[in-house]
Amino acid sequence: MGATATTATAATTATAATTIVKGAAVSDATRLVRARADAIAGGAVSRGSAISAWLPIIYGCDKTCTYCIVPYSRGPERSRPFDEILDEARVLAAAGYREVTLLGQNVNSYGHDLAPEPRFAHVRTARTVGRHQDREARPDLAELIRAIDGLRTADGAPAIPRLRFVTSHPWDLSDRLVEAMAACGSVCEALHLPVQSGSDAMLRRMGRQYTTDHYLERLGRIREAVPGIALSSDVIVGFCGETEAEYEATLRLLETVRFDQVFAAAYSERPGTPATRLADDVPAAEKRRRLVGLLAVQERIGHERNRAWLGRTTEVLVDTVVPPRAYDHDDEEAAGTAESRDAFAHLPAGIAHLAGRSRENKLVHLAGPPALVGRLVDVRVEHAGPYALRGVTT
Ligand code: SF4
Repeated sequence: MGATATTATAATTATAATTIVKGAAVSDATRLVRARADAIAGGAVSRGSAISAWLPIIYGCDKTCTYCIVPYSRGPERSRPFDEILDEARVLAAAGYREVTLLGQNVNSYGHDLAPEPRFAHVRTARTVGRHQDREARPDLAELIRAIDGLRTADGAPAIPRLRFVTSHPWDLSDRLVEAMAACGSVCEALHLPVQSGSDAMLRRMGRQYTTDHYLERLGRIREAVPGIALSSDVIVGFCGETEAEYEATLRLLETVRFDQVFAAAYSERPGTPATRLADDVPAAEKRRRLVGLLAVQERIGHERNRAWLGRTTEVLVDTVVPPRAYDHDDEEAAGTAESRDAFAHLPAGIAHLAGRSRENKLVHLAGPPALVGRLVDVRVEHAGPYALRGVTT
């Protein structure tokens, strides 16, 4: 990517995050690692929830997606020290957090920039396809989730019952990680794996570094190792030069994979990114048409996948008391019909409309006492919308 990288750097000088401190280059990602360590030492980490916590493990990004400003705004990848993350996970467990999401622009790269250590001697260099990453004796995401899964309560249960991680990059999703996902009971059966396009030519223009074949091979491997895993993805329509055939290839990919959820966006140019050198030539009205068409396809698929949950019981981490008539978009999908709204319109005293997430990251609505917030409850699914489920506690 030498030529592209040079061009990108020249094109993004104004937004580059790398600064010089005492003669050494310091990226924004480096600063963030230090800032996190300082915040932990000073007891100054703010948390938006007492139930679920984000746990940053890596900052910055080494990828070269042409539409994305992150590599230039955040700088190169910087992993947090393994033991520091584990200590923070212990603190979260002791504080009663039920769910932790490991966070990074590309969590699958975690650890490759850390120093080798004898205790990780069993970690060998690994790349499944394409790029060689020097992993020799360094921790990776698989090591990290096994270590967090290994934190136990006095009775031997996982100290953090639910572990997730986001965002994954298809190119770095290793077999070691897939094996760890299958082996660790706390790792939820849900994976967000952005694909962005179903066209190889488009993926090349986007600088995504994988092909659709590679992407599908990874999903096949994950579905084999973790049966029933819910899959979600990101898609961009109307990127530079996208033909109707390329757009239709993305629709076909959605039909092939049958994601549980897709977050889709129409491309809009971001100043300072390499893609500004490509012609943003799909008319706005055409981008809208493609976005609406894709969302309609995914809505049908998502609805079909959710219907498969009818009559089944799923574990829900209740996290919200839904105020009467204060439905957000997702709530509208599940509770917006007259029938669904009626389900929560006349609740007895002491019973509220609650919502939470299943291990498969499905939004689930239920009725119950507000004291259930923060608890894991079993819910039998009685209604399935395209974006959410509704059920009763068992
Ligand atoms: S889209 Fe994600 S993987 Fe690609 S450069 Fe941006 S942050 Fe990195």
